[in-house]
Amino acid sequence: MPAPLMGSKLDQGEPLSGEALLGYLPALGEVPKGVFTKFAENAAVLRRFRAGETICQEGDFGSTAFFIVSGKVDIFIASPQAHIATAPGGRGFFGRTVARMKSMLTREAASSPADDAARRKWIPVDASVDLAVESPIGELGPGDLFGEMTCRTFQPRSATVRAREDCVMVEMLRVILDMLVGTRDIDDSVKSSTKVKAPTFKGTSFKAELDQKYRERAMFNHIKRVPVFESLDEAFIRRLCETSVLKTYGKGEVICREGEPGDRFYLIRQGLVKVSQAKAGGDMVLTYLSRGEYFGEIALIRQGPRTATCTAVDMVDLVEIGAEEFQAMAAQFPEVRAQMQATADKRLQSAQAKRFPSLSMSSSLHEALDLGLMQAQNLLLIDLTRCTRCDLCVQACAEAHDGVSRLLRDGTRFENYLVATACRSCQDPLCMTQCPVGSIRRRENLEIVIEDWCIGCTKCAELCPYGNITMQPVEVKAEAEKPAPPSKSEAAPAAAPAPAKKPSTATKATTCDLCTQLATPSCVYACPHDAAMRVNPSEFFSRSMPGLQALLFNPEKSAKGSFRTTH
Ligand code: SF4
Ligand code: SF4
Ligand code: SF4
Repeated sequence: MPAPLMGSKLDQGEPLSGEALLGYLPALGEVPKGVFTKFAENAAVLRRFRAGETICQEGDFGSTAFFIVSGKVDIFIASPQAHIATAPGGRGFFGRTVARMKSMLTREAASSPADDAARRKWIPVDASVDLAVESPIGELGPGDLFGEMTCRTFQPRSATVRAREDCVMVEMLRVILDMLVGTRDIDDSVKSSTKVKAPTFKGTSFKAELDQKYRERAMFNHIKRVPVFESLDEAFIRRLCETSVLKTYGKGEVICREGEPGDRFYLIRQGLVKVSQAKAGGDMVLTYLSRGEYFGEIALIRQGPRTATCTAVDMVDLVEIGAEEFQAMAAQFPEVRAQMQATADKRLQSAQAKRFPSLSMSSSLHEALDLGLMQAQNLLLIDLTRCTRCDLCVQACAEAHDGVSRLLRDGTRFENYLVATACRSCQDPLCMTQCPVGSIRRRENLEIVIEDWCIGCTKCAELCPYGNITMQPVEVKAEAEKPAPPSKSEAAPAAAPAPAKKPSTATKATTCDLCTQLATPSCVYACPHDAAMRVNPSEFFSRSMPGLQALLFNPEKSAKGSFRTTH
């Protein structure tokens, strides 16, 4: 009997034989019988949930997907929305404690109209519905699938799912999901952690059914909710729903390539897309885009070649709008065109500003500085010949961020500089690549923004190679847990008063925001000895350290500690 794929466990529910599984998911009958029999054993279970029972919880790690056979569920984000307040101008009493942190339930002002356009009103979760930021709850019912991304990539669960009524579901391992919708490549870390040779499947008509369901039920709302499409009228959205193509790309697949003519516009339905550009020195990552975001507009607006290459980071589902429809939309809705133009200008401006370290510097520099300094675009340096360890920079950062410093006066040491632990605006911001709810993004001005709906799963903090994201408790007013609704067999209770809000603590990711609202960052401004500075590393080191190249070519000196860590 074959072992379950990838070492995952289905430790609850009734095991399903191949025959029983076909009864619930008949499309699996399209998989060649021998292959199906070989891999279907032990790979799916039938789960029954009573009304009010929790099926999975946001932030929990999992490796399975669920197909709803009968009954309805609520899918929601239980973690209260909040973040640590930023008041960059503040210079108040220092020493406030975490216990005194207050959530700021309004969000900071957007930095530009293009940023406004990017602001989401919907939270993407691992299901066919998006959740409204103001009230993050949705409904799924018979025939719906959820947990697909968790099953494929082992990302934490993006939302909590609770049975609204008695439900029956098939819980499946990835091998069944792959049989149903097709294999989308397997992560190297997964390959190395299992001895089971993963099979590949081309998928069944189940995927086409899901696409059709999406086209009929969700696509209209998905397009309507994209901020830049807000002014489209209903008739035009319906036209887009009919004429757009739904396409899926596997991990690593190139969606469009820099230099090629642009023939369509893309809206991300699910997954993460890497946008990169060829520069002297190699490909540079410009940004990552996720569900609800779009790309491909620059070539169509300018009627020129693609300005960047876009690649699927994991499995990506796209809505593709042809050039003709796009031009019709731009002509009929000038507001949409104007907003897209503003975003395109910002994107181009930001791409032009990015470059690898100066070519006048040795090509060995990149290799020698394996501390990642040249992967940074904005470093917080402290000149140790001037610094008196007074910690006024740390205090200033804390005062500007509701008592929580986003700066650690600790980190890598390079000659007489301390590279402080504060966001360094990486060229390839790994922190953004696995957020299950799309709550971390980067503005064009390089500020990392963590949205209020962060569920505190810690994934971004684990991914930042420099320890620049920390998890912080934030005091919030949360609605008391609602009692589970009665099952069908129980009598309905008398109407209860609305649950009171009570103080509780939520954990949120937080990072240095570069103090982008200020002309000079608080930490730099506060230093009385001019020791703290924010710099572009390649410009700074080539200008201020003429002896750098000689140093880098002297391995003996490097080994003696030109690069070291201080505490
Ligand atoms: S921002 Fe970070 S901690 Fe918050 S949900 Fe996303 S990955 Fe998890
Ligand atoms: S948070 Fe970390 S990974 Fe993200 S841009 Fe800043 S330093 Fe880089
Ligand atoms: S730039 Fe602002 S947020 Fe970042 S470490 Fe300095 S004071 Fe703190």
